[in-house]
Amino acid sequence: MTVTARTAEWECTRCGSTNRKLVPYTLDEATDRCVTCRARHALVPGETTVRWLARAS
Ligand SMILES: [Zn+2]
Repeated sequence: MTVTARTAEWECTRCGSTNRKLVPYTLDEATDRCVTCRARHALVPGETTVRWLARAS
């Protein structure tokens, strides 16, 4: 069974890099690490389906 996912795009609060992560539609939150500085962030959906809000965690 294939789980449908959407792309969450978020901006690192530490270095400003834009990151992308695939998040299943069943989830309304996610965590990811910045590919550039490796800072861990908590992600929640933003004003659009693509742009998510990131908070350092
Ligand atoms: Zn970063």
